[in-house]
Amino acid sequence: MAVKIIESCVNCFACEPVCPSKAIYEAKPHFKVNPNKCTECEGDFPVYQCASICPIEGAILNAQGEAVNPPGSLTGIPPEKMAEAMAELQSH
Ligand code: SF4
Ligand code: SF4
Repeated sequence: MAVKIIESCVNCFACEPVCPSKAIYEAKPHFKVNPNKCTECEGDFPVYQCASICPIEGAILNAQGEAVNPPGSLTGIPPEKMAEAMAELQSH
């Protein structure tokens, strides 16, 4: 089982050094996880080290394809409030 980094990754380099399995590598257009190396941190840490440091909500998916840090989990802004704010900004 492995996590996956998706296109919303901003290539900040934060996750690469904290992975105990050296499963994360720089690639184009964004960092990726080698599924053969990712152990989901099992036996090393109680939580995914990559997701615990990643600043971008939704950039890392678990093996079930769900965001480890879902919208609102890092900013504390409920997703519907964020959508309203973005719509407001774009209307100007
Ligand atoms: S879940 Fe753990 S082992 Fe897998 S890529 Fe993230 S830090 Fe590495
Ligand atoms: S910490 Fe998140 S945004 Fe930064 S490189 Fe890793 S996956 Fe991408």
